[in-house]
Amino acid sequence: MSYPEIEKQLLAAISEFEIIDCHEHIGPEKSRLDTEVDVFTLFYHYTKGDLMAAGMSEEQYKSLFDHSIPLDKRWDVFKPYWEQIRWTSYSRAALLAAEKFYGFDDINKETYEPLSKAIKEANTPGIYERVLRDACNIRTSLTTLDSVSEAMRIDTPLLTPLVWIPSYNTLTSWEKLHHPVFAPEATVNTLDDLLDCMKQTILKVKARGAVGIKTTSYPYREPSRKQAEEVFHDLKNDKPLKMPEPGELTPHLASNALVDYFVDEIISFVTEQDMTVAVHTGYWGDFRKLDPLHIIPMLQRHPNARFDIFHLGFPWIREALMLGKGFPNVWLNLCWTHIISQKMATSAINEAIDLIPANKMLAFGGDYHIPVEKVYGHLVMAREDIAKALAERVAEKQMTESQAIDLAHKWFWDNPVELYRLKV
Ligand SMILES: [Zn+2]
Repeated sequence: MSYPEIEKQLLAAISEFEIIDCHEHIGPEKSRLDTEVDVFTLFYHYTKGDLMAAGMSEEQYKSLFDHSIPLDKRWDVFKPYWEQIRWTSYSRAALLAAEKFYGFDDINKETYEPLSKAIKEANTPGIYERVLRDACNIRTSLTTLDSVSEAMRIDTPLLTPLVWIPSYNTLTSWEKLHHPVFAPEATVNTLDDLLDCMKQTILKVKARGAVGIKTTSYPYREPSRKQAEEVFHDLKNDKPLKMPEPGELTPHLASNALVDYFVDEIISFVTEQDMTVAVHTGYWGDFRKLDPLHIIPMLQRHPNARFDIFHLGFPWIREALMLGKGFPNVWLNLCWTHIISQKMATSAINEAIDLIPANKMLAFGGDYHIPVEKVYGHLVMAREDIAKALAERVAEKQMTESQAIDLAHKWFWDNPVELYRLKV
């Protein structure tokens, strides 16, 4: 069989899988239903980065979602930039979604109006079920929610929450410490109160089905209880925090020893609770702060934790791959990766087959919020990338077609089930 034929067959087999979606930001369905939708809903989120890199201003981008402006006027703003970004991987996910759910094979001046109408008509209860279950064959989507209250409102097995415990910009003043953002009803007076409050919060979301927390590969320093106490007391006495020098690579403007210690304590507690630590690495804003290698001291301090390294550290893909090769407590998650660049993702998968044990890769996470339809677009791209990389091995007779399908199945199902202890 030729390479294209093998690829076609693998793609067909992979497309039949029921899968675990390993990362989204999808909130309760009401948040989507309450959103006024039209063609620009498909350009929420990541395409913003491409539109702005192409020259669109923040103000122009915001105006696309201002429904008091007629649709045709907004299209006029959008059109020249759309022509610049239509070939990016981000845009392809939007095009695939428009075709699958609304039957339009392009987004252009002829289609934007009827497409907007179709998107509005379909924005009805059950949209998650129709997109995630029926079109994508997803058993559950691991979804990271920004607030504990949102995580507590998840009420469908289609979504399994992870919770973001904000720390770097929330442990910066007494006001924020006294009633922490993750537990505003609590009153904190000591460092132990703060830790206790964090633990109670994690237990609360765990009881509602949460399977992990999410953090970032910021350059946190060695934790010190003593230094954390000092910062805590300074804040309590309204002493201003020492701010970093300009250009200093710190977690945030207000990196401090309290944050370093607090994050480390979270990791220890989550590990005790048999939950997983998801870690954003690479690409976002000034991505120098998010180098995947920053996480190494944390991996070494917590050998029994399970770290799910997101996004292959884009663009530090090889560095991230080496984390999977060198550390038994690391898994590598291709969430977001296929839509940043399909070609880079495919070549990374090819290298990952050489480098990483089969039980350590997670194939897919849509990484979307409101435009849930694009999860499908992203999934199509993920399947293509994996079929392409595996077909090469089969064509070279390094593995059989059925071995390739088994490996893909591990990545799409077995590994996330095992890593997150999912009861599916
Ligand atoms: Zn994400």
